[in-house]
Amino acid sequence: MTSARDLSLGTVTVHALHCGSVGTDETIPDRSRSANPLAYTGVLRGERHRVWLPVYCYLIEAPAGRVLVDTSWHTDVREDQRKALSWELNVASKAVLPAGEAVSEQLARLGLAPSDLDMVFLTHLDVDHASGLKLVSSAPRICCSREELDAAGAGGVRYNPRLWEGVDLEPLDLAETGEGPEGRGLDVFGDGSVRIVELAGHSLGMCGVIAEAAGRFVLMTGDACYDRASWEDQRLPGICADRDAAASALAWVRDQAADPACIEVLATHDPEVVPHDIVLGGPAPSSTETGD
Ligand SMILES: [Zn+2]
Repeated sequence: MTSARDLSLGTVTVHALHCGSVGTDETIPDRSRSANPLAYTGVLRGERHRVWLPVYCYLIEAPAGRVLVDTSWHTDVREDQRKALSWELNVASKAVLPAGEAVSEQLARLGLAPSDLDMVFLTHLDVDHASGLKLVSSAPRICCSREELDAAGAGGVRYNPRLWEGVDLEPLDLAETGEGPEGRGLDVFGDGSVRIVELAGHSLGMCGVIAEAAGRFVLMTGDACYDRASWEDQRLPGICADRDAAASALAWVRDQAADPACIEVLATHDPEVVPHDIVLGGPAPSSTETGD
């Protein structure tokens, strides 16, 4: 607990923070856009196949503490993104991080330092989610699922372990919760307010996060889906470490979106999302646009 904490008892607030953008091949959000199975790499695809998508991080303020979900880009990408991300990853993902949009800058705008957080949780370790990790490395806990950390440690070009080199990245053991497509997750504070839900598929250890108060909830999907069309039409992402699991995750997200208790489904790269705050647990849930 920090002296800076000022959390209204009983309410849970989700701040949707716009933390730059990513330029990727159009098959990343929707694999059906090309028959070429390697189109998502962006190699030999050119500008006409590139789409620019926002990158969102979320600050959840619950009665028991604060959780930051994902970290977007490090400020180093403003200088030299090939060096910051690795050459291979920079082919597939172009980073844009305007002044004020780094996750640490967005927290500072809210009057918070990384040490005011109780946990940083990475939905998965792809570069557009983990690059900014060292900007918030003074947070007491920086976590991802054990499955994701194991997958990232297994080698290959997808992950860049340099991004968390020297950081105590804590693997979380997911438990049988009965929630989510795999029935596994973790109740972060033990009061149901912030719950990690396994949404493997896009990556082997990917997780979403649910914030809940007074029977209403917000679901943050990470990259299990990219926008409303992806869960409504069950469009698989371009990168799937496990296609069957990715399809199960999409179906589960669609079912959550249809639940009257679900206030909002937030996909990290959904172009329709604007920066906003959602407050759960008051007389009625509220949503307020906050601007960039
Ligand atoms: Zn992503």
